[in-house]
Amino acid sequence: MSELPIVVIGGGAAGIIAAWRAASLGGRVIVLERNKKLGIKLLISGGGKCNITHAGAMEEVRTTFVAGEARFLKPSFFQFTNDDIARMIEAKGVKTYVRPNGRIFPLNGSADDVVDALASYLDDANVDVRLNARVISLKQSNGQIEGVKLDKEEIRSHHVVIATGGASYPKTGTTGDGVAWAKDVGHTIIPLRPALAPIGVEPRLPADWRGIALRNGSLMVFADGKKVAEWRDDIMFSHEGVTGPAALEVSRAAAGLLDQHDVELRFDFFPAKEFLALDAELNALVLSQRDKMIATLLNAWLPNRLVEPLLTVAGVDAATRGHTFTRNHRRSVVQVLKDWKLGNVATVNLERGEVTAGGVTLGEVDPRTMRSRKVKGLYLCGEVLDVAGRVGGYNLQAAFSTGFVAGETAARDCQQEIGIFDHATLLNKTHSDSSPA
Ligand SMILES: Cc1cc2nc3c(=O)[nH]c(=O)nc-3n(C[C@H](O)[C@H](O)[C@H](O)COP(=O)(O)OP(=O)(O)OC[C@H]3O[C@@H](n4cnc5c(N)ncnc54)[C@H](O)[C@@H]3O)c2cc1C
Repeated sequence: MSELPIVVIGGGAAGIIAAWRAASLGGRVIVLERNKKLGIKLLISGGGKCNITHAGAMEEVRTTFVAGEARFLKPSFFQFTNDDIARMIEAKGVKTYVRPNGRIFPLNGSADDVVDALASYLDDANVDVRLNARVISLKQSNGQIEGVKLDKEEIRSHHVVIATGGASYPKTGTTGDGVAWAKDVGHTIIPLRPALAPIGVEPRLPADWRGIALRNGSLMVFADGKKVAEWRDDIMFSHEGVTGPAALEVSRAAAGLLDQHDVELRFDFFPAKEFLALDAELNALVLSQRDKMIATLLNAWLPNRLVEPLLTVAGVDAATRGHTFTRNHRRSVVQVLKDWKLGNVATVNLERGEVTAGGVTLGEVDPRTMRSRKVKGLYLCGEVLDVAGRVGGYNLQAAFSTGFVAGETAARDCQQEIGIFDHATLLNKTHSDSSPA
């Protein structure tokens, strides 16, 4: 191997796997992590329980990403799979289990144990992990990486892996540094946008709605009156607007349109029921208890804090009883239940996104190797790339898989560069050993 080390910048999901893979192929590897611990974002993932990956065929996991990203991820997803990462973690004594919705978690619900397990692979492979080590910039000359600059030192290297993540949750250390360096060395950057973020709504929703959860509805995003995204799942009201799984899922679409369009959020309380079926059900409910007020009847269907406000939107007096509840009243109520205008999207905050959409454009990175197509000796992996998946373990899998490939390529390039391509080492350490038995 080259005398110069392989430098991996970032000790998160992608960086840990990249460093381990490069070192287990014989590379001398240094990980530079600005935090005092590895994997800070992993520790807060999945609400501290860490949704490691998603079960199922990798083809199914891959195709949950938007088309261009799914295409890019194909080679790495098949080189390092969900089974591979689960097996690695299990081999360190951390049992995993699959939830009915396919999400894979550690059985004991401890993200700490996942990080400890992954970090121990770095020890096993003799990776030099340097904490509190913030990289300031890359060094390059004539299109070749020459090293990295830290506050008080420089490290020479011809093989540098950028695994610095995105720009959301900046307090965890991800402030978009890698994106800026990539731009400096000539990469095109797709503007950073939030994904999987809460959505701020205007006018402000009433304060007493905070904490209300609406189950299994459908949250819709309209831009200039046209539906552009929809997600069926729960939402919850927060101080700024709407959160919960459905809000997180549509936030990327909303954020992408906000600059140039009027973006509105609407909600269907009963997406599984057609308008006329719901109308018939409401009719039956009213007829069965004609002397009850409509507000009282609707308490059976909706959180009671919402009943009166929704009736107001429908233009129906909450005290109306069955005998005076007309067909028009009923239709107005059903209309609101199927297409409630929650408000305009005011903000979708990059800092609050669980993932950053945008980043280094995928066309400038070779998906089979994670090599930069702009600078020799540079590799990019994880969230620094223009990849952002859904909730469910997909984002960590993308980081693990692309990290694996980046580490593998960096090690092989390093060996080839100094002309001691050690076939015995490499051939024995091909894909089959990526996941311990
Ligand atoms: C609250 C939350 C919950 C999430 N839950 C899940 C989940 O359950 N499942 C899932 O699949 N995904 C989840 N995600 C997304 C997932 O955590 C990320 O997509 C994934 O961690 C990205 O991996 P990465 O290695 O690219 O970046 P990161 O894991 O963010 O690692 C990047 C590392 O680089 C370091 N770094 C940055 N700049 C520098 C520098 N200049 N010098 C040195 N080091 C630097 C950072 O400190 C950081 O440790 C969640 C995200 C958040 C914020």
